[in-house]
Amino acid sequence: MTTGDSPRLDWDQFARMGAEIAEWGARYHRSLPDRPVRAPLEPGAVRARFPQTVPERGTGIDGILAEIDDKIVPGLTHWQHPRFFAYFPANATPPSMLADFVASILAQQCMLWQTSPAGTEVETLMMDWLRQGLGLPEGFHGVIQDSASSATLAAVLVMRERALAWAGNRAGLAGQPQVRVYASDEVHTSVDRAIWVAGIGADNLVRIPTQGPLRAMNPAALRAQIAADRAAGMIPAGVVACVGGTGTGACDDLTEVLAVARDEGLYSHVDAAWAGAAMICPEFRPLWAGIEGADSLVLNPHKWMGVQFDFSAHYLRDPEPLVKTLAIQPEYLKTHGKDGFINYSEWSVPLGRRFRALKLWFVLRAYGLEGLRAVLRDHVRWSQSLAEDLRADPRFEIVTEPVLSLFTFALKGAEDAAMIDFVTRVNDDGRIYVTQGKTRGRIVVRFQVGSFACTEEDVRLAGAVLKEMAG
Ligand code: PLP
Repeated sequence: MTTGDSPRLDWDQFARMGAEIAEWGARYHRSLPDRPVRAPLEPGAVRARFPQTVPERGTGIDGILAEIDDKIVPGLTHWQHPRFFAYFPANATPPSMLADFVASILAQQCMLWQTSPAGTEVETLMMDWLRQGLGLPEGFHGVIQDSASSATLAAVLVMRERALAWAGNRAGLAGQPQVRVYASDEVHTSVDRAIWVAGIGADNLVRIPTQGPLRAMNPAALRAQIAADRAAGMIPAGVVACVGGTGTGACDDLTEVLAVARDEGLYSHVDAAWAGAAMICPEFRPLWAGIEGADSLVLNPHKWMGVQFDFSAHYLRDPEPLVKTLAIQPEYLKTHGKDGFINYSEWSVPLGRRFRALKLWFVLRAYGLEGLRAVLRDHVRWSQSLAEDLRADPRFEIVTEPVLSLFTFALKGAEDAAMIDFVTRVNDDGRIYVTQGKTRGRIVVRFQVGSFACTEEDVRLAGAVLKEMAG
């Protein structure tokens, strides 16, 4: 019988296998262009390759890489594939993977300054570097959250507490007046879930109609709705605006919407989870003109900036209301005599936090803003050129115009069922991967260029596949 490793730590094995894993990782990434983007599998197929009972005796981890090739890789949808055009990207550049490895090795818990002074101070500095890169004014303070969903939840909790004069956490919501939050239909479902989790209730997430080519929230309708709600005895609490909505890249006019929020005394939060990364390029910043008026905003370097998941950048004009909403100090977390230091766990729902700032440091040190800008600019150019190519083909129609590197299209005259069939055939083919969406009441194909591995040739190939499948 084979004897397993002892849980006592074997650093020789660690060094040997760490090097092997890096070699294996480079091989995996080099193999991606030849693999189908989406795993061609039936549900249950991956699980069936494993023993179904927990091992009583260990067998060590030597040989586990062969098992990964055998059991795991065939069950992957390859998010780092050069021809991944679905959803939004989740880019992990080599420096950020290595940084994540370093973060795992250091295995810090960065909840308080004193539990990781380096973790805390590098986070503060990296968020300030990124603020400068995005062209956000001084005075915005950043914190790294695990996801945009968490940042938006934190913002919605602040909206609720501010509106209820900080009574919600203490007394609960029973007997309180109805708290209202406003957003368009174009915002991500993370806003709906934040509203549910905050106990505000889906009925109190009020949808404001949109207008214009960017499907922007109508500011006059927003103002009128706030007035009507006040008149009905409800408490307007906040506005969630979007820049680069998930479905079609919708962008609210922040100058107008944030002015309404400010005039009405509402807390404002901007979800720029995907499009925010593009703001390192000054020429794209008109899409979020007025952002300096937001109380908080979120963008995901883990989408389109090459920073390995998880890394969500949450910026606040004033962190105080957030800390007032989320900070809790049991005796064991008190940092006696250390007041004045930032304790980032007071800025987020989870207490424990990894040393995620290392990932942004490695990426910015490796590529600089210029290196990142070049990739994003290529993506936008290639995507827009594919949109033109499809527009020129009588079988296709562009349904929503490109916003940065995202556009939607349909087969001319196709019913929804034919569109679903088209998307299924494209994805079963395996050379590219796209997702469908629904806009203006019809099924469309969402196409976005965002993989850091993608080349212009890959986008041309995507065009060829789409035309071939259109028949
Ligand atoms: N906001 C937008 C606009 C998104 O597109 C997404 C995900 O794609 C999210 C929020 C949620 O992001 P996360 O997975 O970081 O919670």
